Amino acid sequence: MQIHDVIGIGFGPSNIALAITLEEKKQDGCNVDAFFIEKQPGFAWHANMLLDNAHMQISFLKDLATMRNPSSHFTFINYLHQKQRLQDFINLKTFFPSRHEFNDYLAWAASHFDHRCAYGEEVLEVLPEKRNDEVTLLRVRSRDCNGIIHERFTRNLVVSTGGAPSIPECFQPLNDDFRIFHSNSYLREIARHEHAKKIAVVGAGQSAAEVFMDLNNRPGAPHVDLIMRARAIKPSDDSPFVNEIFNADVTDFVSAAPIRIAPHSSTSSGTPIMRRPISF
Ligand SMILES: Cc1cc2nc3c(=O)[nH]c(=O)nc-3n(C[C@H](O)[C@H](O)[C@H](O)COP(=O)(O)OP(=O)(O)OC[C@H]3O[C@@H](n4cnc5c(N)ncnc54)[C@H](O)[C@@H]3O)c2cc1C
Repeated sequence: MQIHDVIGIGFGPSNIALAITLEEKKQDGCNVDAFFIEKQPGFAWHANMLLDNAHMQISFLKDLATMRNPSSHFTFINYLHQKQRLQDFINLKTFFPSRHEFNDYLAWAASHFDHRCAYGEEVLEVLPEKRNDEVTLLRVRSRDCNGIIHERFTRNLVVSTGGAPSIPECFQPLNDDFRIFHSNSYLREIARHEHAKKIAVVGAGQSAAEVFMDLNNRPGAPHVDLIMRARAIKPSDDSPFVNEIFNADVTDFVSAAPIRIAPHSSTSSGTPIMRRPISF
C-alpha cells in the first residue's frame, strides 16, 4: 500500500502552485511525495468562460511562482520565453494577459506534473483510518470516468476544489430548463442557442459584463438585455489598498492573529461575535 505525504484534491492554480513549491523545496532536501486528483479529463481553467476578449484581472506578476521565487522555472515570464512569446508580450505593453494566454501558461505549468496527477477522477469522500482511536491516515476515494473507484492513502490532505456556482433560489425550479444556465457553463451551453434572437443576462459583475460583450460581438448578434439589481455595472475594486489583503505578509499576519471575543461586540440578540483583531 503506497502512502503519500500529501494528496491534493483538485489541480487548479492553487494546487499547481503547491506542486511547484514542493518541487522547488527538493533543492533544500525537503522531499515530499505529493499526488493530486483532478476531476476534469485534463487541465482547464474555467474553460466555459475562456472568452476571446477576456483578460486577467490581476497582474501577470501574481502568477504561480514569481511572488515566492522570482527565479523559478515556473514564472509567467519564463513560460513566455519558452514559447518564444516574450518579445511579443512586451510589445503589448500590458500587465494583464488574455485569459487564453494565462490558461495556456497554467496548462504548461501543470504539464510538468502529469505523472503526479490523476486526471478524470472525482474525489467522492475522505475517510479516517484509525489506530487505537487515533486518525493515522486518510483514505481518499475517487471515481474515474469509467465508474471505477480508486483508493489512495495519505498523511496530509489539501483541498483546493475552487468555488461552486451560486444559483439564486428563485432560479432553482428552472434547473432543468436548458434555456437557463449559469456563466460557469456559458460556452458549452450557448453553443445550443446559436440562433437565439433574444437573450437576457442577469447580473452586474465581471462575468455578466463579459458574457454581454461576447454575445454582442458575435456575428448576427442577438438582442441582449443586461438585467441587474444594481444601478450600474460595478467594476471589481482592485485599488492598491484593497489589493493589500492579498499581500503575503498581510495574509500571514491575519492568519496568525489570535481569535478573540471583542468585549463590546454583540449581535442584537446579545450573542458575542468572534472577531480577528487587525491592527497595522
Ligand atoms: C471567469 C473567471 C475568471 C477569473 N479571473 C481571475 C483573475 O483574472 N485573477 C484571479 O486572481 N482570479 C480569477 N478568478 C478566480 C479563480 O477562482 C482563481 O483564478 C483560481 O482559478 C482559483 O484556483 P483554485 O485552484 O483554488 O480553484 P479552481 O481554479 O476552481 O480549481 C479547482 C479544481 O478542483 C477540481 N475539483 C473540484 N472538485 C473536485 C473533486 N471532488 N475531485 C477532484 N477535483 C475536483 C475542479 O475541476 C478544478 O479544476 C476567476 C474566476 C472565474 C470564474
